[in-house]
Amino acid sequence: MSESTVEKHDFGAEVGRLLDLVVHALYSEREIFLRELVANAADATDRRRFEALTQAELAPPEGAKVRIEANKAARTLTITDDGIGMSHDEMMQNLGTIARSGTKAFGDALSNAKAEDRPSLIGQFGVGFYSAFMVADLVEVTSRKAGTSEAWLWSSEGRGQFTMAHSERAEAGTTIVLHLKSDADEYLEPMRIETVVRKWADHITIPVMVAQEGEAEDSKANEGTALWRKSKSEISEEEYAEFYRHVAHAWDKPWATIHWRAEGAIEFSALLFIPGMKPFDAVEQERVSKLRLHVRRMFITDEAELLPAWLRFVQGVVDTEDLPLNVSREMLQATPVLTKIRKAVTNRVITELKTRSKDAEEYAKFWGNFGAVLKEGVWEDNDHRADLAPLLRFASSTVTGLVSLPEYVERMKDGQEAIYYLAGDSAETLAHSAQLEGFRARGVEVLLLEDSIDAFWPERLPEFEGKKIVSVTQGEADLSKIEAPALEGEVADTEALLSALKTALGELVSDVRTTDRLVESAVVLAAKAGPDLQMQRLMKRAGRANFGAAPVLEINPRHKLVAGLVARLAGGGSVEEPAHMLFDLARLQDGDLPKDPAGFARRVESALLSGF
Ligand code: ADP
Ligand code: MG
Repeated sequence: MSESTVEKHDFGAEVGRLLDLVVHALYSEREIFLRELVANAADATDRRRFEALTQAELAPPEGAKVRIEANKAARTLTITDDGIGMSHDEMMQNLGTIARSGTKAFGDALSNAKAEDRPSLIGQFGVGFYSAFMVADLVEVTSRKAGTSEAWLWSSEGRGQFTMAHSERAEAGTTIVLHLKSDADEYLEPMRIETVVRKWADHITIPVMVAQEGEAEDSKANEGTALWRKSKSEISEEEYAEFYRHVAHAWDKPWATIHWRAEGAIEFSALLFIPGMKPFDAVEQERVSKLRLHVRRMFITDEAELLPAWLRFVQGVVDTEDLPLNVSREMLQATPVLTKIRKAVTNRVITELKTRSKDAEEYAKFWGNFGAVLKEGVWEDNDHRADLAPLLRFASSTVTGLVSLPEYVERMKDGQEAIYYLAGDSAETLAHSAQLEGFRARGVEVLLLEDSIDAFWPERLPEFEGKKIVSVTQGEADLSKIEAPALEGEVADTEALLSALKTALGELVSDVRTTDRLVESAVVLAAKAGPDLQMQRLMKRAGRANFGAAPVLEINPRHKLVAGLVARLAGGGSVEEPAHMLFDLARLQDGDLPKDPAGFARRVESALLSGF
């Protein structure tokens, strides 16, 4: 081939740095390069099978496998698969840039992780391929995409550049040739290779064959028994954990391992995991379950949405006999078999959460990671809302730690008719909110809600065990039937003041009224009937400025400031300026900016001046 047909490319600066990180930080665990390359080969074969569901001619050959062959004389290690292959552009994209997360995120995660956890970070950040450079000083990838006739050779010494050239390959698939470094001799030994494959890739369901020197027959290095098909007693905790890391691209220990076989009308095996950590890219994650569907052990798809979106953090495999191997995408949507499986799997996860919620400390770990996701179910899932309600946990104004709705109801005061909550951006700030004063004075517990979703779900869960769930900022909370401590201060006659304030504030408020839920503060805002204040705040941030009616300004008739204003009004003075100040003060108390920040500053200044 002439020089001119070879394209030279630079890796992005990111890739260069990444290669350094991978090669140096993971040196002591470098055998995992083999796990990464075998996993890629297996993934590629899975993908080819999936494409073949709609394009039969793309089906992988009978006996598709991953083959590993060492050549001692040439000092090469070759990994071949019958997978989907890559086109020219896909090779450029997949092997020349960083796909999922940036180098910086990866570097940070590496330096924060314990040494033994580092190897799995590679898989999680989608940079597994580059681990080949831990053992090789030249890597050549020849690939032909299924359904095309053109093959390409990607080649790199891992030092900033790679080349692309036309090549030949008899069938679709990918061949990776590693030219081993002088200190990587061990990977020329078939025994060593088999040990590594067995350790890391035993659960991979396609055969991983290792060529034996001087022998015609390869030997099969992985058992290939789908782990989920074994009985629980045959599986060690470590095997479960390793499989979890494989399916979830994770490196922690699962918080829950749920493994069962359903027999009866529908038969399936399921092995599910609830992660022990929030994934790094939680924000980027699609709102859809990626549970893997297998049919008779063969991977079919991770797009069957086997769990509702609010359980998307659950990872794992469902394997059934009750679908044909050539199940089509349309069938995935419509078949009653899957509907039944979905229902059973969802219920099983809920049962697990119910059981595990009895251990408050353990459950709090789960809740911290995925509680906000679970709450989405209360909002959107009519069938499971009632099951989910007792699984919810909240910060509380009266106790430390997390509180459940049943616990709250049990502690309710005599005369208390509703479950009260206050939603905002942080429970810590909420705990000091003026909104809570009257509740605190009466010893009434208030749930403190700090996730964005908290502005939504209460609308769909209006009561629990017959008790209304009410936002303290929404309408008039009725505290009159609850025994109140004697409050200090005379109640001022506020009638004239209320109407004067209302006139002064105009459209800024829906109403001005007195309240008995304040103790120390002079004023507080409440929402008129409709969306609560936090909901309005979120909508505003989302660009919907006029969501909900103007708030109600509530004043504390026992407060000195209020008495002072009553006197001022009676003496013929104006409350125009103080009205705006009080309104903005009430906004500030809730963590919002004054409606008119410059005006507020001017008013505070002049008030200070007149006081000095
Ligand atoms: P990940 O597997 O997490 O995506 P890798 O760095 O291991 O990250 O691989 C990058 C990408 O390169 C893969 O997503 C895949 O698209 C492509 N790739 C790697 N190896 C193969 C292969 N053997 N066959 C087909 N595509 C491959
Ligand atoms: Mg990979």
